Amino acid sequence: MRLVLVGPPGAGKGTQAVRLAESLRVPHISTGDLFRANLQAETPLGMAAKEFMDAGELVSDKVTVGMVAERLSDDDVASRGFILDGFPRTRSQAEALEELLAAEDQGLDAVVALEVPDDVVVRRLLGRGRADDTETVIRRRQEVYRSETAPLLEFYADRLVTVDAVGSVEEITERVLDALRARA
Ligand code: AMP
Repeated sequence: MRLVLVGPPGAGKGTQAVRLAESLRVPHISTGDLFRANLQAETPLGMAAKEFMDAGELVSDKVTVGMVAERLSDDDVASRGFILDGFPRTRSQAEALEELLAAEDQGLDAVVALEVPDDVVVRRLLGRGRADDTETVIRRRQEVYRSETAPLLEFYADRLVTVDAVGSVEEITERVLDALRARA
């Protein structure tokens, strides 16, 4: 199973990705988590990403794609697939992913889009308390989502599974699993 999870910041991607990964038994790959782990370990990659993360801007496609390519080459991913969470976020990342997969004769099974109204998203983010969850940075991340990431919904139109992401965590996971089953 090779899945991508898309949605605005605060849509619950991370929460759902963890649950879906468990239920579908595939590795969860979150670029945000990978960047945060690098930051904590003070690696050069983490130091390079820090200022962008703090400002709610995207880390460069080159650095991000390099990090993802490395993770995709791990054995667990090769044998089980993946749920990508927070990647791709730009057209160029989406194209790079297509190429990485095509090189292995692979493709995405589905792209799950979590849909939530703006007010719900801001409420969720402010309640989360992460270092980059100040109101200014949240606003910037929403803008970046609208301009850079939302256009991917069209890029993935033929594989897109749209799910209403307002409700309890459990309900939303079930909706995603149902939608994937209906597609299979
Ligand atoms: P997230 O945990 O997905 O909200 O990501 C936190 C931050 O990491 C983002 O605001 C970006 O600065 C950076 N980041 C995560 N994923 C990507 C990506 N695919 N492309 C560029 N930057 C990213």
